[in-house]
Amino acid sequence: MPTSQLNNSIGVSFDRVEKRYGAFFALRQVSLEISPGECVALLGHNGSGKTTLLKTAALLVRPSSGRVSFPGAKSQDRIAVQRHIGLVGHSILAYDELSAKENLEFFARLYDLDSPRKSAAEALDAVGLATRAMSLVRTFSRGMRQRLAIARALLSSPSLLLLDEPAAGLDHQGSVWFAETLRRLRFEGRTILMSTHARNEALDIFTRAILIANGRVERDTGTGGDPRPLFAQMQASA
Ligand code: ADP
Repeated sequence: MPTSQLNNSIGVSFDRVEKRYGAFFALRQVSLEISPGECVALLGHNGSGKTTLLKTAALLVRPSSGRVSFPGAKSQDRIAVQRHIGLVGHSILAYDELSAKENLEFFARLYDLDSPRKSAAEALDAVGLATRAMSLVRTFSRGMRQRLAIARALLSSPSLLLLDEPAAGLDHQGSVWFAETLRRLRFEGRTILMSTHARNEALDIFTRAILIANGRVERDTGTGGDPRPLFAQMQASA
């Protein structure tokens, strides 16, 4: 996985995005501009719409109305854009009967990467799983599976990272490791949009925080805004 600065990064923009399930609105009139290189915390209670927003940004959920686009991308074509997106969602998406290494090599081939073996080895190293590369995924703890999911998301060196509670299942040591990884990814110039709990080891790395409630943007610190008041508001209402 390259550790150098990215040449160009992409952002994500939501223009009056709505997502309806029947008569229920999971997202209502969401308009947000997340510029390349921002590191944004997405806060909100369960069911507020964070996962739907992240899946919409990953082009896995189609808005009922409104538009998602990607500032800085050379092409807005779905396939072209998805190559630059890394998603860590709630499901781990790994084959239990394959080793960690085999899983990542499989996905590296699927993503058509130049050297699947090298990419897989680097990704395993980056998430601290190099010594367990040959172990079958079914023998992995939840935290190890989560590390593997993060390795998979980073395989293609994506410039836009969409992370849905990525530290879930990590123990204290894992959370500290993850905070360091986030710092590195941000330093490299990647755009990060990440749903997270109010308590977060990596609070200082966020350049902005957005609070979602009932599918709407309730508060947004704006670019460069101090995220701490929003984290405090979430903690107070938890
Ligand atoms: P969060 O990630 O903030 O917990 P979600 O985005 O997962 O919230 O969900 C927002 C709301 O949309 C919830 O009320 C949820 O039940 C609803 N929802 C999400 N996906 C679907 C779906 N596929 N069908 C129906 N309702 C859904």
